[in-house]
Amino acid sequence: MRKSIVAGNWKMNGNLAANAELVTGLLSTRSGSDNVDVLVCPPAVYIPQVAALLQDSNISLGAQNASAFEKGAYTGDLSLSMLAEFGVQYVILGHSERRALFGEDDAQVADKFRAVVAAGVTPIVCIGETLQERQAGQTLDVVSRQLRAVLDVADKATLANAVVAYEPVWAIGTGLTATPEQAQEVHQALRALIAEYDAAAALKVRILYGGSVTADSAAQLFGKPDIDGGLVGGASLKAKDFLAICSAA
Ligand code: PGA
Repeated sequence: MRKSIVAGNWKMNGNLAANAELVTGLLSTRSGSDNVDVLVCPPAVYIPQVAALLQDSNISLGAQNASAFEKGAYTGDLSLSMLAEFGVQYVILGHSERRALFGEDDAQVADKFRAVVAAGVTPIVCIGETLQERQAGQTLDVVSRQLRAVLDVADKATLANAVVAYEPVWAIGTGLTATPEQAQEVHQALRALIAEYDAAAALKVRILYGGSVTADSAAQLFGKPDIDGGLVGGASLKAKDFLAICSAA
């Protein structure tokens, strides 16, 4: 069976004091249970701080973005080797905020995916439809196009380790959560699409749900057969809420 994952996406939140309090809270209350992989993704500037706090713990470290390039004239960007030097094991790719606010497209996400995998880091590829696309009945077309962009460049040997996060744009930060049935329908379709590329990998790829996940909604969502955990924004900023979500996975 697939091991669940719960990833906290702090987005552009936090400061030295708040991060220390949050991570200390996570570490002091988290049980030793190892049936779920837990990670937090702080803003990049705080990665060294959080890496130090997480040392020797069972919580991993992720980044919210990375460059597809190795080094050079890319002002403002961070390479995979830089992130890996600080213990980053996962990178969120193609989050809808990066797509909508920073113009990232499927081709760029695919390039980044290649770079992340080449660095031995686990990609968390975010895909999801807007409200308008859902209302127009285009959900499966949109998420399939977004996922295909990555599957087309994925290498069979490493595909099984990739993580996908289905995050309906209309559910992110809005308090609206997809129903477990709505989410399961999409997750099942995504797994079937992965199976077109590699049937064995499709059984192993973990597909997370994201979008206003709370301690209350998590158990029902994670109870669905193709939902392997969550990518959590707002609720990952409070240790108690995040840990309750981890326990539901
Ligand atoms: P949210 O964010 O849980 O605050 O909706 C999820 C995400 O954007 O990853």
